[in-house]
Amino acid sequence: MTDVKAIAKLMWELEDQLAVCMRCGMCQAVCPIFMETGKEADVARGKLVLLDGLLHEMFKDPKGVAERLNRCLLCGSCAANCPSGVKVLDVFLKARVILTGFMGLSPAKRLILRGMLSRPDLFDRITQWAGRFQKVFTRPANEVIGTSCARFAAPLLGGRHFRPLAPAAFHQKTPSKDTPAGASGQRAAFFVGCLIDKIFPNIAEAAMTVLEHCGVGTYLPAGQGCCGIPALSSGDRKTFLRLVHHNLALFEEGKTDVILTACATCTSTIKKVWPAMVADQPEELRRRVEKIAEKTTDISAFVTRLIDPTKLTAPAGKPPVVVTYHDPCHLKKSLGVFAEPRRLLAETPGCRLVEMAEADACCGMGGSFNLQYYEISSRIGRLKRDQIVATGASAVATGCPACMLQISDMLSRRGDSLRVCHPIEIVAEAMGSS
Ligand code: SF4
Ligand code: SF4
Repeated sequence: MTDVKAIAKLMWELEDQLAVCMRCGMCQAVCPIFMETGKEADVARGKLVLLDGLLHEMFKDPKGVAERLNRCLLCGSCAANCPSGVKVLDVFLKARVILTGFMGLSPAKRLILRGMLSRPDLFDRITQWAGRFQKVFTRPANEVIGTSCARFAAPLLGGRHFRPLAPAAFHQKTPSKDTPAGASGQRAAFFVGCLIDKIFPNIAEAAMTVLEHCGVGTYLPAGQGCCGIPALSSGDRKTFLRLVHHNLALFEEGKTDVILTACATCTSTIKKVWPAMVADQPEELRRRVEKIAEKTTDISAFVTRLIDPTKLTAPAGKPPVVVTYHDPCHLKKSLGVFAEPRRLLAETPGCRLVEMAEADACCGMGGSFNLQYYEISSRIGRLKRDQIVATGASAVATGCPACMLQISDMLSRRGDSLRVCHPIEIVAEAMGSS
């Protein structure tokens, strides 16, 4: 069981934050789950009321509390629209930590989070091994999107169309990098993130191309770990803190001006969640985390200031891409980044940006939410798919690899054939990379 003192501290922090909610219910209008289920228990207000009596409820029905807490995408739509400024995501994450401290981790989660995720080397080796054998169990589903589906009945995969593990992870092709500042006079560290490393290495390769084109020196430390959000979402603060320490040690080196990521969830985790979740830790750790959080920026937001569109050319021999952009919740709602990726796409030769309706509506992915509540996740995802297809675009770009997974699944399952990519890939192609 997690340290009782730490749990008690979290309880006090939680009480202070819960007191801010005035029960106005304005979060109902923006919660994607509430819009589908209509249940007060699913919306932020309903969960906050439950947490008000957490101690009592936890002893009475811990599984029931966990079920209610887990029915949440952690999208932050409620927090972004809350007139009282309730830090809803902090509250939900802390409550999950308290509950896991009380109930313990399930054996499966213990194995995945503590046995694998918290040990980046081992995690890399296991996924490398899984990548070699995945074709035995899966078959291609949609060539344009690049999805696969299960070859045999597989309860965990269900009918999902997923993006398979890449033949070689990014860290295998480019284990590390350390180049001097170029014309921009700046050096950037690059935090790869698990999904980009193992499923979408093209995004990291495109990021390297764009940084080089912009004259930015790159620092890519070897042995990077996960940002920790999958562990924290499961209430496993021990693994989360271990990964924070691991990555801090890597990214404090390298004398860089900025730390970039191409994953909206990693960016918002490092910038917002790391500081919030070390508030009770020693001052030295808090200071180190604050420093890293301040330096961390989304790659589109950073490069948009440096790119000169007149130096880009449309890829030769390819028809223009008509692209629509989906706002990842963790980029727009958490960090206010939405204009920059659009500007990048609109200014890239050979690319025409068309807006979809409700571009900032959540795609319904929510990490482990998709695994646990696939039916609700798909209902939300299908709304996003329909808005994408209605634009007539030939590609959809988004700044989060997790959203890319969900959008790929939704499009592929219906047989739609649109390219699903990251804005940085389209920009890199106009720099001669394809
Ligand atoms: S979380 Fe915010 S929006 Fe929701 S009920 Fe409380 S104060 Fe209102
Ligand atoms: S984080 Fe998203 S899914 Fe969870 S309660 Fe808030 S709006 Fe609803």
